[in-house]
Amino acid sequence: MGEDLERIKRRTPLLDYLRQHNWEGRPAGRFEYVGLCPLHRESQPSFYVNARKNVFYCHGCGQGGDLIRFVQLSREVSFRQSLAYLGPQTDHETESTAPLEQAAAFYQQQLDHYPEALSYLDRRRVHDPALIRELRIGYAPGGNLRQHLTMQGYSFAVLRRAGLINAQGTDALYQRIVFPLGQGEHIVNLYGRSIGVAFAHRFLPGCKGGLYGWEKVRNCAAVILVEGLFDYATLRQAGFHNVTCSLGTHLNADQFRQLCDGQRTVYLAFDTDQNQSGQHAAEQLAQHLVTHGICARRVLMPAGHDPNSFFVHGGDAYQFQSLLEAAQP
Ligand SMILES: [Zn+2]
Repeated sequence: MGEDLERIKRRTPLLDYLRQHNWEGRPAGRFEYVGLCPLHRESQPSFYVNARKNVFYCHGCGQGGDLIRFVQLSREVSFRQSLAYLGPQTDHETESTAPLEQAAAFYQQQLDHYPEALSYLDRRRVHDPALIRELRIGYAPGGNLRQHLTMQGYSFAVLRRAGLINAQGTDALYQRIVFPLGQGEHIVNLYGRSIGVAFAHRFLPGCKGGLYGWEKVRNCAAVILVEGLFDYATLRQAGFHNVTCSLGTHLNADQFRQLCDGQRTVYLAFDTDQNQSGQHAAEQLAQHLVTHGICARRVLMPAGHDPNSFFVHGGDAYQFQSLLEAAQP
């Protein structure tokens, strides 16, 4: 029992737990943070967390203690129930979603401050502010994320495990447009598209989640599947709401299962590149879907184009609609 207790507390620092539950605190001393008390209603912050000792104390309601005590009070459960609750919650995956959330929010704030990022989006014809907000598109200039998250109380180890910084301690994403990848309510990864000369596509280590934007389209009778997030964004902007993205031409098992979880038509709008790899992948996927009872149609993009470049080069929604109508089984 005692060992479990220590392990739980070690695995989930109190401050990390509070942040995962959207507590906002500002530094108030070397290891101290202060913010509004989650346990009682107040307008002036009087809830203090000591990140080194892993304890909290509220000067307003007088409550204090460690993580387990906090869960007892905030969830109104017994000590044992609190332990049981923390057991499964403290796995690696949950621990890493909190810093990803914070990183995504930070990158989102950065976007407007970097003209090079905005002009890149403009070149790719992604400019609808409402869509940019909805997709939480941000910008990683590189070199300022670690400091920001450290100020928020995240340890080096947690940031490393989330893949946000590399072993040398520098930011993993550098001069990249960032799309957060969600699964349910959580962000499970970040995709970074280089705006410079660096390798174009980058994901943080770990799971990429299922199909991008799947929750929005899962009940649609027809969905358009694209391979890139810029394809996704331009189609959404052009008024196609039934779009989803596989983040590459190769679908993982979860993504394939999602496409097959009901009766629907899937329009495959992959790149038409020189070496035919996009079309080849689309052909194989179409066959695979058909054997699973799904109606598949291959959208033949003009040579050398993907849906994004189609719109960048002046294509419009009517023309794309015609491509959908001409799509082949
Ligand atoms: Zn309080």
